Amino acid sequence: MTELMTLQNVSVHFPVRGALPFLKKGEIQAVSNVSLSIHRGEIFGIVGESGCGKTTLASTMVGMIKPTAGQVLFEGVDLNSLPRDEFKKTRRRMQMIFQDPFSSLNPRFNVYQIVSEPMFIRGEDDEETMKARVAELLEMVGLSAGDMYRYPSDFSGGQRQRIGIARAISLNPSFLVCDEPVSALDVSIHAQILNLLLELQEKLNLTYVFISHNLADVKKLCDRLAVMYLGKIMESGDSDKIFAQPLHPYTQALMAAVLDINFSEQKETEILPGDTPSPINPPPGCRFWQRCPKAMRGCKAIPPEYVEVEQDHFVACRLVNGFPDQDMPEGYDQPLVRLKTVRGR
Ligand code: SF4
Repeated sequence: MTELMTLQNVSVHFPVRGALPFLKKGEIQAVSNVSLSIHRGEIFGIVGESGCGKTTLASTMVGMIKPTAGQVLFEGVDLNSLPRDEFKKTRRRMQMIFQDPFSSLNPRFNVYQIVSEPMFIRGEDDEETMKARVAELLEMVGLSAGDMYRYPSDFSGGQRQRIGIARAISLNPSFLVCDEPVSALDVSIHAQILNLLLELQEKLNLTYVFISHNLADVKKLCDRLAVMYLGKIMESGDSDKIFAQPLHPYTQALMAAVLDINFSEQKETEILPGDTPSPINPPPGCRFWQRCPKAMRGCKAIPPEYVEVEQDHFVACRLVNGFPDQDMPEGYDQPLVRLKTVRGR
């Protein structure tokens, strides 16, 4: 498979200012030194807790945020080095589906205005062409041409997300970022929207980045995935390999936390202590050490390398990649993980 999108050592930092706007107090390291590749025609998942930098990373991929460092290559070309006109043309081939189908649609616009807006901004089509295209797009996402002059408030959450999807594919993109596209929807609608995304991917030969908290969705949809924590990739690669044998302690904890609906059996679940630390000036070393049940003294000071442990399976953990001999276990007798027992009915 050829690479469609490549990130090379991408970092995105935002300044934190004090009372005086020119005084910088620190910086939020939303994304730190991320390198990964997304292949043409695949679904690439990004998972991690809220605030780990998933959406910032995805926004950087589509050129909505300029990286502080590193390169974003789309079809081998550095997106941020393109002249303005070329950037705008390339940018049209990447679109985003947003998490909240309520706030992502302008309530004052009717469906025709919402879906045709990208075409209107491009300025290449006349009114009749845009109407015909909007009708075609609405049919494609499971609505009808008759919905064209209705307003977002006339639709349910699932239908609104279909309108958002129609808008996202209106300029024939090749790369789509789906930012938690079903997390705000009812469970019954959830599967319908996922099936629609799969149908469109096949029909339009799309490449997706699929951001989600739901590991079941990621397992079902994604060919490859990256697990993020506090702005860094902890583990990435082939989805089947990671689900079959997660190697990073954070990935293991995420997978262990998935609720098992079989309540008749007692199950011991490992729960990570504490919350994700602040991304403002994070300490050196492994960003996960404060919550990692396997942390050792060296983890606090020395960042783990991001190493390919088998074909298309990368892990950033000193445990997997080998501790130096002089590292002694810290808190070896006092594991940081609390075990919770989920009792049967
Ligand atoms: Fe845990 Fe150390 Fe591995 Fe980080 S490097 S995940 S702290 S064992």
